[in-house]
Amino acid sequence: MTNMPPVHSRSAMGDAARLGEPESPGVVRMSLAAAMTLDFAPGRFYRNACLYCINLLLTYKSGCAGRCAYCGLSPKRTSGKSFIRVSWPACNLEDVVSAIADKRHRVKRVCISMLTNRRALADTVTIARAVRRAADIPVSVLVAPTIVGVRDLLAFRDAGVDKIGVAIDLATPELFDRYRGSGVHGPHRWQRYWDCLGESLEIFGQGMAGSHFMVGMGETEREMSIAMQRVRDMGGFTHLFSFFPEAGSLLSERPAPPLDQYRRIQLARWIIDNDLGRAEQFAYTGSGKIAGYGIADEVVDACLESGEAFRTSGCTGRDGEVACNRPYANWRPGPGIRNYPFAPNETDRRHIRLQLGLRDFARR
Ligand code: SF4
Repeated sequence: MTNMPPVHSRSAMGDAARLGEPESPGVVRMSLAAAMTLDFAPGRFYRNACLYCINLLLTYKSGCAGRCAYCGLSPKRTSGKSFIRVSWPACNLEDVVSAIADKRHRVKRVCISMLTNRRALADTVTIARAVRRAADIPVSVLVAPTIVGVRDLLAFRDAGVDKIGVAIDLATPELFDRYRGSGVHGPHRWQRYWDCLGESLEIFGQGMAGSHFMVGMGETEREMSIAMQRVRDMGGFTHLFSFFPEAGSLLSERPAPPLDQYRRIQLARWIIDNDLGRAEQFAYTGSGKIAGYGIADEVVDACLESGEAFRTSGCTGRDGEVACNRPYANWRPGPGIRNYPFAPNETDRRHIRLQLGLRDFARR
């Protein structure tokens, strides 16, 4: 990236002179939600949602070597400074770490997102160590598999990281190649991402690594279900995102997926990740839409009744609850929330049933 964001501290904004070059590891970017949680930015969340995971992003003047078509950090982007829809203010690492320590009773996890930049390997270790030294809070790393090998994963583990996220994002090798690989002259390869997930599960243990997938990139619901089942069969979990066009990115004109499609995939993920059913037993229409989950109606009904399937899926805290609930990270605050950052209430659950077009969900 050529446009570096302004550097923020809790006491003073735009303190770049004191901080020198605003690059990691001395400086990290933080999601706006995390900045609000740590009192670096003013604001309140819609419906009083609370964030429990501080998402940090490494930052370099040389940017990211990836060229992913949908990403706000891609050098192919023509305008804008957001990433996953929101701005990411740059902050002094020391200030961030001390704010995390101050809020250790509220913060249940910290996540460090790498960039595909060689400097990120050592800096991830430095930042993880700094966080772990300051407070006994679990740390995840959202890794960059193109540059991360087994030795790096071991170094992350030794620095106190306990969970790994691998953003495969696309459900098929063709889509991956089109949007992240040869289609955009990018460096990423489908196989490397899956191998990295396998290595992470091997090193960190079953259930301690997961993959991000993004719905609405042209995959069928069948293809997404099969990809999520593959992750589950490897011992991991899926963290779901709904595609949201990033202004200035190559896909800025692409519409978000219809809500009913996203709801069906959320329910499929819940069923797969909780071993209630399997993707190959689901019923699909000729065009690959989910038409049934191949499990008893009462089980589907119980899932809808609890509403848990429609909450944000992400890394958990020590209490076993999702800590990384990313309030409104891939949708505008307001009606039609895609990932609920809290338990959906009765009205939400009624809307979800309507959004699913429930009558189509008879057992097949
Ligand atoms: S789910 Fe959240 S905490 Fe876990 S790897 Fe993804 S962004 Fe990080």
